[in-house]
Amino acid sequence: DRVAQAPGAAIPVQREARAEPGTALRVDDLYKRFGDLEVLKGVSLTAHEHDVIAILGASGSGKSTLLRCINLLEVPDAGEVHVGGELIRMRTDRRGRVTPADRRQVDRIRARLGMVFQQFNLWSHLTVIQNVIEAPIHVLKLPRREAVDRAHALLDKVGLTDKHDYFPAHLSGGQEQRAAIARALAMEPDVMLFDEPTSALDPELVGEVLKVIRDLAEEGRTMLIVTHEIGFARDVSSRTVFLHEGQIEVEGPSRALLDDPQSPRLRRFLSGER
Ligand code: ADP
Ligand code: MG
Repeated sequence: DRVAQAPGAAIPVQREARAEPGTALRVDDLYKRFGDLEVLKGVSLTAHEHDVIAILGASGSGKSTLLRCINLLEVPDAGEVHVGGELIRMRTDRRGRVTPADRRQVDRIRARLGMVFQQFNLWSHLTVIQNVIEAPIHVLKLPRREAVDRAHALLDKVGLTDKHDYFPAHLSGGQEQRAAIARALAMEPDVMLFDEPTSALDPELVGEVLKVIRDLAEEGRTMLIVTHEIGFARDVSSRTVFLHEGQIEVEGPSRALLDDPQSPRLRRFLSGER
């Protein structure tokens, strides 16, 4: 068990990173605790290329922590994260804490994951287009002209054609979230991670954001979507994973799982949601 490793020791169970064609993302037996609170208790999940996976679960079940462990905003206590077949290497420091072994690998992996949060997280001092070109210029080192061209195309695609030069404060929540999606797409990520992208929106703005995500699904983007929109999960995702207290209670093809839930917990969850 890697958590019990001697401090400072390399973790021996890790295999060499290797290509796994067709697998966009894999987590294996992920554990995460905050103090005494065990939040993830052995979560394993594979997203193949073009999969759209909905993650459902009650508040506090560990959905955000799972996404945050995947992009290493949180470091899992144990378990493996693979992105595009590449294992994120961990080490145990002198205090026995697990940390990523290679910051450059973390940066590289993060650049392959597009993250969209509940709160839109646009930079408020930058216009919409400046938000979108920032990372491509500074992280991908794209020439400014190319970044701007790409940003225009993406903003058109998310329906913000006439808002390129607006500041976030002058947008509706739905427009802000669509700009945040464009910003994530500008990095040309292999996988998009959405954490309740519509939960902070007024009800009348939810549809426009879901439509953008639905379009991305139709393009064949690989996505993990934490959502409380059950109808959306049913119609747009290929697979649904239902988390309960840090473990996968049940998972399966979205329609079958959600139309005829066999798990009593999922049934209760769905009846409470609707
Ligand atoms: P969900 O997204 O399913 O609502 P979270 O993953 O956000 O659940 O949180 C799961 C549990 O972990 C909650 O009880 C939450 O309070 C706790 N938690 C999340 N992040 C932290 C943190 N950084 N420190 C302490 N507790 C946390
Ligand atoms: Mg959450």
